[in-house]
Amino acid sequence: MRTDVTIIGGGFAGTAAAITLARANRSVVLVDDGKPRNRFSEHAHGILGWDSVNPIELLRRGHAEFESFGGTIVQNPAETLKESRRDGCRWSVSLADGRDIDSPHVLVATGITDVLPAVHGLPELWGSRVFHCPYCHGYEVKGTNLAVIGGENPGFTFNITKLLTKWADAVTFFPNGLELPSQECALFQALGIAIVDEQVLEVGPVEGGGVVVRTRNLQLPFESCFTGPRFEPNDELLRGAGCDVVDGWVRTERGLTSQPGLWAAGNVISSPDQVSQATGAGAAVGIAIDQALFAETLP
Ligand SMILES: Cc1cc2nc3c(=O)[nH]c(=O)nc-3n(C[C@H](O)[C@H](O)[C@H](O)COP(=O)(O)OP(=O)(O)OC[C@H]3O[C@@H](n4cnc5c(N)ncnc54)[C@H](O)[C@@H]3O)c2cc1C
Repeated sequence: MRTDVTIIGGGFAGTAAAITLARANRSVVLVDDGKPRNRFSEHAHGILGWDSVNPIELLRRGHAEFESFGGTIVQNPAETLKESRRDGCRWSVSLADGRDIDSPHVLVATGITDVLPAVHGLPELWGSRVFHCPYCHGYEVKGTNLAVIGGENPGFTFNITKLLTKWADAVTFFPNGLELPSQECALFQALGIAIVDEQVLEVGPVEGGGVVVRTRNLQLPFESCFTGPRFEPNDELLRGAGCDVVDGWVRTERGLTSQPGLWAAGNVISSPDQVSQATGAGAAVGIAIDQALFAETLP
């Protein structure tokens, strides 16, 4: 297969870029294995005009729009990304089913993997009763008695624990192995955050909503629960292609990596991006790629 642009990742960033490019009359193949990060949540919040929309349904609509503008979706994982010199192409993407797609420009929008703390029962409640982002689900836990379980991301976890006092009536923090620096400890006290320094053994659902947090000595019910996962960018393809990495993240400038014709957008390069930001970043990179292709055809 040969196309103007190959996009790896059909989540919010990749699909927005795909629509922008298809509407700019570019041939685009969108390669996706169908696992957007927020697939565990039934409702997505903070999306203009679409609050509480089901994220899978929103993407389904986006994919249908892309196809209606002539785009092609390939439902298959991309396995490798290598330089190509075929037919004026710079990059070749190999799929798990053995097909290759060659193109002068590739956008990688493969998102993030949330690595949850190793607490029994927590993965089953992730996205339905346990959340991480106050700006996605803070409003939904307004006025509740809330637990925060320490995850593998100390700075992020301390920050959301403090912020969540803006919404919740009471916040209890389970460090769960995290060491709370004295400065944070003082701030937690000032904000009225209770600290239960016992390892969390299990989290389970409470009938009618909420969670129960179990430690060796305690079993405490809460109306809502947050944690701070480690954010692991799904950037193996970008790293394998030789992209510069700074502080653990692939470096981009207006979406372009350090490799010519290789672009990135969304959570794969920016963990704080919510749906709207990832969508905006994808659309902006789509425009940049179209203009780069246009510039390449000028005499
Ligand atoms: C539990 C939870 C709830 C959330 N709730 C909200 C909310 O309410 N509001 C909000 O604004 N944000 C929310 N978010 C954040 C939201 O999920 C992200 O902002 C958004 O998904 C980022 O879009 P993206 O395109 O960068 O990545 P994603 O949407 O994760 O898309 C990445 C895509 O790439 C695909 N992919 C990865 N590797 C490959 C490969 N090798 N080959 C082919 N395809 C590949 C994946 O299958 C996926 O479809 C939530 C996140 C979580 C974890």
